[in-house]
Amino acid sequence: MVSGDLARVPWSADQVESLNGFQRAGVWHPFTCSGGGGEHSDAVLTAREDGWHCPVAGCPHVQSWAFPAMADGSWREWPRSHEPNERYVYGDLP
Ligand SMILES: [Zn+2]
Repeated sequence: MVSGDLARVPWSADQVESLNGFQRAGVWHPFTCSGGGGEHSDAVLTAREDGWHCPVAGCPHVQSWAFPAMADGSWREWPRSHEPNERYVYGDLP
């Protein structure tokens, strides 16, 4: 669903696919974990229908919103501004 100016959970399967594609694409800074006292700040979040999840085992951080352009696939039209960056820690992105 989209309410206000953010795409909030629950996300559809198409939205989840778009969100995880965005995370991998390097078109912009991927969403990373804000939990773990900052220790996970390079951990790239994985989208599921109920929200973003941190790939670090045991991390309870869940984020329930995204920017609409991340969820509706329009990010695919953006110029690439970031290359995929080895500093990021990827988990089980589908
Ligand atoms: Zn985390």
